[in-house]
Amino acid sequence: MRDFIIVGAGTAGCVLAHELTASGRHEVLLIEAGGKPPLMSRIPAGMPKLFGTRHDWAFESEPNRACGGRRVFVPRGKMLGGCSSMNAQIHQWCHPADFDEWAADGAPGWTWVDVAPVFRAMEGFAGGADPARGGEGPMAVEIPASQSALPPLWVEAARAAGLTGPAGYNGAAYRGAWLTEQAHRRGARYSVYDACLKPALARSNLQLLTSRPVERLLFDGGRAVGVALADGRREMAARGVILAAGAYGSPQLLMLSGVGPAPHLREHGLAVLVDSPGVGRNLQDHALLGLRFRLKRPISLKRAGSLGALLRWLIFRKGLLATSGIDAFAFESTDDGPADLELMLAPFEVRDQLRGEPEQEAYAIAPAVLKPRSSGSVTLRSAHAGEPPVIDLDLFSDPQGADRAVAVAGLKLARRIAATEPLAAETAAEYPETAGIEEDDALFEAALPLLQTVYHPCGTCRMGRGPEAVLDERLRLRGADGLWVVDASALPSVPRGHPNAVVAMLAKRGAAMILSAWASDRTG
Ligand SMILES: Cc1cc2nc3c(=O)[nH]c(=O)nc-3n(C[C@H](O)[C@H](O)[C@H](O)COP(=O)(O)OP(=O)(O)OC[C@H]3O[C@@H](n4cnc5c(N)ncnc54)[C@H](O)[C@@H]3O)c2cc1C
Repeated sequence: MRDFIIVGAGTAGCVLAHELTASGRHEVLLIEAGGKPPLMSRIPAGMPKLFGTRHDWAFESEPNRACGGRRVFVPRGKMLGGCSSMNAQIHQWCHPADFDEWAADGAPGWTWVDVAPVFRAMEGFAGGADPARGGEGPMAVEIPASQSALPPLWVEAARAAGLTGPAGYNGAAYRGAWLTEQAHRRGARYSVYDACLKPALARSNLQLLTSRPVERLLFDGGRAVGVALADGRREMAARGVILAAGAYGSPQLLMLSGVGPAPHLREHGLAVLVDSPGVGRNLQDHALLGLRFRLKRPISLKRAGSLGALLRWLIFRKGLLATSGIDAFAFESTDDGPADLELMLAPFEVRDQLRGEPEQEAYAIAPAVLKPRSSGSVTLRSAHAGEPPVIDLDLFSDPQGADRAVAVAGLKLARRIAATEPLAAETAAEYPETAGIEEDDALFEAALPLLQTVYHPCGTCRMGRGPEAVLDERLRLRGADGLWVVDASALPSVPRGHPNAVVAMLAKRGAAMILSAWASDRTG
């Protein structure tokens, strides 16, 4: 019989499959609900074109009470590579303070000193290795040449507006403005599926099932021994099950299997196997608003949807589609602590949460709350596995209004950058929806039509200590044996940046922890 089952072939699942099969000593079954990524996933700018397709779970949030009841669109990759096959490819180790805070808050062994060598080992930075960066790892990273004139102009303006910092944002603490590093190789997306799963699939000890949603976990006594699939099949494993179904999928599967807050499970007629009140709680994401500006000349990515742009990418791997589009960003602190505000440049007219085609030559500057005080929850809609979970992001709900204050500071900083050269010379005017509004509450309300998240849900099965910690710091589920959760849901809090590399790091360390538990079981 196989040793381990991994549920979900997303960022974490691909790394886990690679690491657990590397020695050749363990038999692993990886099960994924989606199939192979389509061509659109290879195209760096293809992200919004994947939204709402069969490769996207395409969830929608509950109304956000503090945002006039607005719902936000919640895309999640449903394919090999998971969200790493549809994301904006930004590669970021995130902030040293993130990890030191996790360790101080009940997850010892996850300090910056512990994790930085793993980021380095995993990265294949085209700029080459140096004491801070990795050049030989599987995750290809480069700073793609932007095809729009806007990102370099924007970075120059942001720096002129005071956002100066070190040469790069990875490998140390950061504040400043940069062109983004992206997960690319030869002009195409290089997902974690490319980096980790494809090489592992050559090994005979890895078996992969695609287009097979898992419906629940199977237990024998208090031990996870297998999974039940939607097609009625059962798959068993001798050593245990590793959940890597993402920040929405993993808590949903746990609850469907009887692991979660007892009253909620009973409400849905489910037998309670482990009363774990933290399952589905502590949902954190980066809330984002935005200001839009008209341009004086056509230097945006408005024409990226043209046939010419597609042909240029298909033939030369160049042109308007050859970067993710999110090619410049900045980080700032509103309180002299580690950065708590991010500003992203969208060098195109943002419409309908990125689902609408740009109609004008325009750009947006989008501030995101990097260290949110608000949090939400994931709960069951019903006891049927096929139904999407209830996603209550509860953005901007913190009673002190700290998240709102950070967002408003970001909107004002966005305006300052737009008014600073060399960007000012390119900018015709702020859109009328926000232009001239100075008062904080009025500005927040006016910017709400651009409300969304940066698609970084985390924390719904968090590791740590205390009654709501679902996992211990070695990612083992508290209350059951042979069960680990290794994906974005395990993170105690959303990191101050883009978390794909953090999830990959977590999975590499998680695999080592699982193997060492296996080795000590054998000798014990
Ligand atoms: C549109 C978008 C843009 C983003 N941009 C960036 C970015 O630029 N940079 C960055 O760092 N991060 C970005 N992120 C976030 C980052 O990609 C995620 O944090 C990361 O991929 C999460 O990895 P994961 O393994 O936790 O989950 P996922 O990658 O979501 O993997 C979960 C996998 O489990 C599968 N699954 C779920 N339920 C089941 C089931 N019942 N049975 C079987 N399989 C199941 C899913 O289909 C999926 O493949 C973005 C995310 C999105 C959606």
